Amino acid sequence: MAERSYLDWNATTPLRPEAGAALAGALALSGNPSSVHVEGRAARHAVELAREQVAALAGAQPGDVFFTSSGTEANMLALTPAIEVDGDKRPRTRLLISAVEHVSVRTGGRFPREAVEELPVGADGRLKLAALEAAVARFPRALVSLMLANNETGVIEPVADAAAIVHAADGLLHVDAVQAAGRIDCDMLALGADLLTLSAHKIGGLKGVGALIRRGEHIHLAEPLIRGGGQERGVRAGTENVAGIAAFGAAAVAARRTREAEAKRMLELRTRLEQGLREVLPPVVVFGAEAERLPNTTLFAAPGLKAETAVIAFDLEGIAVSSGAACSSGKVQPSHVLAAMGVATELRGAVRVSLGWETTDDDIARFQNAWRKLATTLSKGRRGIAA
Ligand code: PLP
Repeated sequence: MAERSYLDWNATTPLRPEAGAALAGALALSGNPSSVHVEGRAARHAVELAREQVAALAGAQPGDVFFTSSGTEANMLALTPAIEVDGDKRPRTRLLISAVEHVSVRTGGRFPREAVEELPVGADGRLKLAALEAAVARFPRALVSLMLANNETGVIEPVADAAAIVHAADGLLHVDAVQAAGRIDCDMLALGADLLTLSAHKIGGLKGVGALIRRGEHIHLAEPLIRGGGQERGVRAGTENVAGIAAFGAAAVAARRTREAEAKRMLELRTRLEQGLREVLPPVVVFGAEAERLPNTTLFAAPGLKAETAVIAFDLEGIAVSSGAACSSGKVQPSHVLAAMGVATELRGAVRVSLGWETTDDDIARFQNAWRKLATTLSKGRRGIAA
């Protein structure tokens, strides 16, 4: 058995071997992809190959992929009033987002705060389509940003249905597919996405690399976040992270090749994990269980369970899990996702377990043993209080 069980794949994934190989190859490239000499052209070739590979993961054209420094930056790049479609330069005056978006979308990008409207989700974590319909009726030509799958619960949002509603009102749809990529299909056409965000480190690439993908040349990102040397066809200046981009491309190929088989395997492991959670007291709630979810994600809570304490207890047992969203400050904050789903405050201290391609039966067994121990302590504690 491995020494530790890493069950926090929604926070980040390890580097895939294929990505590691591409990274090593690209690190040997000394040229700047904008240079015309042999060295420059070799670096350019690595970037363009990766562009094709990343485009294929989203069913897009390579020329529609813009590399960025992260999923966060791709979201920021997308969320601007200045997106032109078919040469229409009128700015978009509203940004509509769901109440469960990642913080990088919740901040509203480059829209003024008062132009951002949050749409409710149901108790299952899915966007209320009727609310979207009403909002786009009030604000035609809105930019709408929805995640394909939620990072905390794994709940899959009704993006294709939302796209039909958005497009009927002349709106534009941005989809944050950071957590969905490599786990479920992310074909932009099938989703009806006009813009789509990916992040390399969630699919086995490096941290600090992402991409914004558009549905075609008719969509023009007229307001770059970073201006300068005209790289990425003027949309994102700065010399490209050649090695990180090459690794992203290789990770995208591997993610695409293994997706279906891995999804099946994940689902089996997760089903066992959730059975284990329910076998002992206290009673466990698995959030979003009524909705379709990513096959690798479980977010759960139990009466008396403190997320911070649980994460430390699991860590001491050799298991890495997290309490809801990974948080850069290290502070545990109440989950806006669970609040939006109407979960009672005392159950909002939830623990997220997320699996990946290296997760084994042994990892699930270790988790179940640790949970049994923790649950026993909790039940004793509860009896203690009652007495
Ligand atoms: N969107 C979602 C749904 C995420 O889960 C994350 C990261 O956790 C991001 C965006 C941001 O991606 P990155 O870490 O590459 O900035």
